[in-house]
Amino acid sequence: MPRTQIIATLGPASNNYTVLRKMFTAGLDVARLNFSHGSYDKHLEAINLVRKLNSKYRRHIRIMQDLAGFRIRIGRFKGANTRLLKNRTVVWLTNDAEACGPRTIPFDYQGDLNRIRPGTLIYIDDGNLVLRVKSNLANSIKAVVVEGGILKERKGINIPDVDLEFEGITTKDKKDIEFGIKHGVDYIALSFVRDANDVLQAASLIKPGLPGCQIVAKIESRQAIDNIDGIIDAADGIMIARGDMGVAVPIQEVPIIQKRIIKKSNAAGKFVITATQMLEHMTEHIKPTRAEVTDVANAIIDGTDFVMLSAETAVGRFPYQSVLMMNEIIKFTEKSMPEL
Ligand code: PEP
Repeated sequence: MPRTQIIATLGPASNNYTVLRKMFTAGLDVARLNFSHGSYDKHLEAINLVRKLNSKYRRHIRIMQDLAGFRIRIGRFKGANTRLLKNRTVVWLTNDAEACGPRTIPFDYQGDLNRIRPGTLIYIDDGNLVLRVKSNLANSIKAVVVEGGILKERKGINIPDVDLEFEGITTKDKKDIEFGIKHGVDYIALSFVRDANDVLQAASLIKPGLPGCQIVAKIESRQAIDNIDGIIDAADGIMIARGDMGVAVPIQEVPIIQKRIIKKSNAAGKFVITATQMLEHMTEHIKPTRAEVTDVANAIIDGTDFVMLSAETAVGRFPYQSVLMMNEIIKFTEKSMPEL
């Protein structure tokens, strides 16, 4: 039996009997439901599907509920997606959801916009688009495009250099936790935790209703990296969420941070998940890149307990083949480790 386990995110590409059955036989261990997207009906459909396959194949594929957390997002557009041109486009980001226009983009941060000072960089869609703040008014920010592209609705926003104001646990997360408890999920992953206190607060909502549920702290901000020892202590397991982390800190720091977190989690006896872009190329292609295969193997050699697939299985063209590839890398790497 391989030691390293596979988590795969379910989505439009995989939330159906045929594909999920193939993912089961390809070596899936945990099905992840991303509560940043999808309706309760869709999530329940996925939970029921996993349980149906579990009883049919006498397996125990577990379910991870991944909460949205304090995620600022682009709002809904009234018209089409917007193309932002580098150094040319000036936009107004507004927290007034009704004030949407060709260059007026709604976003859902309700804190004080004065904290977002001129010169601040705003990253959208995991940093694929970047804006630089020119000036701010009471409920809008004027910004120029530094990295352009197509801006789509509901994309995530990171402003790593600003200490943004957030409530403890969002209303959405509280409601989603109730859903998770009701349906007996095995893991609940907390997005954008800042410190041990965030983990303990969530645990006080989850554990009384679902004592066996394992709480996973996602590490994806500078603050969480700085508070890693307390977070490891408070959580049942850690996820190295490299997508948002790669925007929050200079991207070249991610590999070393990953290695440190794996080492600390192993030493503390807590499980650790390495996540995001592990086989990203397989979202569109049948084979991963050599660099991706090497990344997965190195995480296993370093001591990760789980490797995670996101877009590859949620929206990719080759969902079960991605699980199969992961399984092949795990088997060969683990078999070869004694020779290293
Ligand atoms: C990440 O940012 O790497 C991550 C796992 O979180 P999400 O997929 O929710 O953005």
